[in-house]
Amino acid sequence: MRTLVWFRGKDLRVADHAPLADAARRGEVLCLFVLDPFFFAPARARRLPHRMQVLLESLEALRGNLAHLGARLLLAEGRSVDVVPRLARAWKVDRVVAQRWCEPFARERDRRVAAALGVPFELFEGETLTPPGTVRSGAGTPFQVFTPFARALRATVPIAEPLRAPRRLLPPPVDIPHDDAPLPTLASLGIARNERLPGGGEKPARARLRDFLATNAARYPDERNRLDLDSTSRLSVDLHFGTLSPRSVWSAAREALEDAHPAAWQSWSNELLWREFAHHVLWEEPELLDRPHRRAFEAFPWEDDAAGFAAWQSGRTGYPVVDAASRQLLGEGYVHNRARMIAASFVTKDLRVDWRRGYAHYLEFLVDGDWAQNAAGWQWTAGCGFDAAPYFRIFNPVEQGKRFDPHGAYVRRWVPELAQLPARWIHEPWEAPPGVLAAAGVVLGGTYPRPILDHAARRDDYLAAATALKQR
Ligand code: FAD
Repeated sequence: MRTLVWFRGKDLRVADHAPLADAARRGEVLCLFVLDPFFFAPARARRLPHRMQVLLESLEALRGNLAHLGARLLLAEGRSVDVVPRLARAWKVDRVVAQRWCEPFARERDRRVAAALGVPFELFEGETLTPPGTVRSGAGTPFQVFTPFARALRATVPIAEPLRAPRRLLPPPVDIPHDDAPLPTLASLGIARNERLPGGGEKPARARLRDFLATNAARYPDERNRLDLDSTSRLSVDLHFGTLSPRSVWSAAREALEDAHPAAWQSWSNELLWREFAHHVLWEEPELLDRPHRRAFEAFPWEDDAAGFAAWQSGRTGYPVVDAASRQLLGEGYVHNRARMIAASFVTKDLRVDWRRGYAHYLEFLVDGDWAQNAAGWQWTAGCGFDAAPYFRIFNPVEQGKRFDPHGAYVRRWVPELAQLPARWIHEPWEAPPGVLAAAGVVLGGTYPRPILDHAARRDDYLAAATALKQR
């Protein structure tokens, strides 16, 4: 049997890759990645500079890993809905296999490919720990709230052990005439390489997992919210690109933590289940990428504060912890989860800018930019998502800064013009005495902006608007 394994950007690995393992068991394997000219057009690629860098590195690594197993990653240019059926015919394959995605646009792509193929198209699990739709309440309905979802998943749905990578793949058949399309490079796309980004591919991903489990994981319950300690796993990029499968992460963490550090296992595995929840709810409600789950929010009076939004994007709001988060995003394509919540609250509740604009900005620059989790995170913070923060929970950027960056190290790293300010003032420089500001070289409205808004006043405005919405 000849199988075409279609890799699609969220499964860039050979270990625990169910379609590849299945194809290898059955005979000849052809591996394909399709370079869509829309996605890889330089102007568009430059709008996703961080993800593009990791994607290209991960593809190179996948090519190497497949070559090591005796196979070749075939590269073809075009729209997958055209290319995959055409190549399946030309290469006389018996079936096409791939890892299932849960995003609505991907489901539509897969539906169209299946309809155009003359051979079976089989989708395998691997994006999530358990297939979406399998975790149900006693009444058989999907969960709307995280805690019972997580409890039910832990109690009732077995998580399978990860599959090993195939030992060897049969060499590419000789009757396949194919000239590979060139894999774009950062230079060909006009993107400057960013040395601060994590390396792409399975090897660095495994090293990150190993390091985290051997070092910071044990302290996770105590340190996970600390912006300055930065001791979370940073595996979101690997889970997004699939350089690690969720099952292999789950299994390695359980082995390392469950007995030795049970609180850490409970706490960190819970975060993996938040990821799971975000994917499962998107599966149930595909509109979530652009519509609020709580439909009442469609009538929310968002404001079009272009200047305020631009100040937020560039890290010039005058609120240091908010600005640090924005600059971390632009600088290294990553933002600490606590800082994401502070930043998203500032956009949706202080600026009152529609969550979809923040969501889109994050998708452009996050190295782990992921539709399901990003939409869930923005909707949660805006108060309109599944199991969302209540509308009256408005993050106070000064108090959050003092609590989760107590010495100001996070702000000092990303907002260097405030680096010399004592910790006492670093989260509210406008309160510092003139002599302190002068000694630290800070000129408010000069070297660093004054706050662009009054948080207390905007909080009251927001509460009035949200309460009115609730009463409608
Ligand atoms: P760890 O703390 O080490 O957690 C381990 C893993 O659990 C993460 O890698 C991630 O896969 C998952 N996880 C952790 N926290 C969450 C969470 N709150 N929700 C869902 N899954 C979680 N995550 C993304 O992967 N991509 C996104 O585009 C994304 N956008 C977000 C936007 C906003 C506004 C918010 C509030 C959160 C967003 N998150 C997103 C969730 C979370 O912030 C990141 O997953 C986490 O910060 C990644 O860091 P880490 O790998 O060190 O996490």
